[in-house]
Amino acid sequence: MSVDIAQNLKNIKDQIEFSRVESLMASERVSLIAVSKTKPVEDVLSAYEAGHRIFGENKVQEAQKKFKDIGQKRREIELHLIGPLQTNKAKEAIETFDVIQTIDRPKLVKALAKEIEKQERNPELYIQVNTGEEQQKAGVLPEDLKDLLALCRDQDLSITGLMCIPPVNEEPSLHFSFLSKLAQENDLPNLSMGMSNDFDLAVRFGATHVRVGSGIFGARDYSA
Ligand SMILES: *Cc1c(COP(=O)(O)O)cnc(C)c1O
Repeated sequence: MSVDIAQNLKNIKDQIEFSRVESLMASERVSLIAVSKTKPVEDVLSAYEAGHRIFGENKVQEAQKKFKDIGQKRREIELHLIGPLQTNKAKEAIETFDVIQTIDRPKLVKALAKEIEKQERNPELYIQVNTGEEQQKAGVLPEDLKDLLALCRDQDLSITGLMCIPPVNEEPSLHFSFLSKLAQENDLPNLSMGMSNDFDLAVRFGATHVRVGSGIFGARDYSA
């Protein structure tokens, strides 16, 4: 079954705009992050040919390889890390990504600060918040957010946004409105929330970035 990536991108951008103009809480601009994890470089190129320039990956090594394979076009692309990051991959992460959305603990803050200084790179940095306080999930607990932001300031890391992944069995709007409130309280302009199933809702609650994978590239096959 073939997937029409260009058509999917167009439909989703139309839906984002539809939700955006309908809500008073919506951001003036919403960026669509095309999540290409598990998908081949050909799919990234199809989206690129359709004019898309913002991509997301959840694994450092996979992203490194895929976005090296696209050559010169990489310069025009904004690449986001949206998956958990181990401190021993901080170096590669800083080399590879333009935006890192998954900062969630002091050790990682320190490792990234060191690499950013060493490589003289200037990625945008968001903190992931575990809004559902789920034990197995990455992200800082809401009650620890202020301390982590203070540590980032101490380490000269400029945080510009928050990201969340709501628990699967809960109403996502509660999490979206909560994350939006936390961002406002802490003066953070960017809000990364919403995926294929709920991006329109996230837009209504003020998302500046939505992360859509299967809605653009088709279902992922993890059995291969
Ligand atoms: C995979 C993934 C997405 C995209 O999920 P879809 O449901 O395919 O749109 C968004 N955010 C994160 C953090 C992901 O890991």
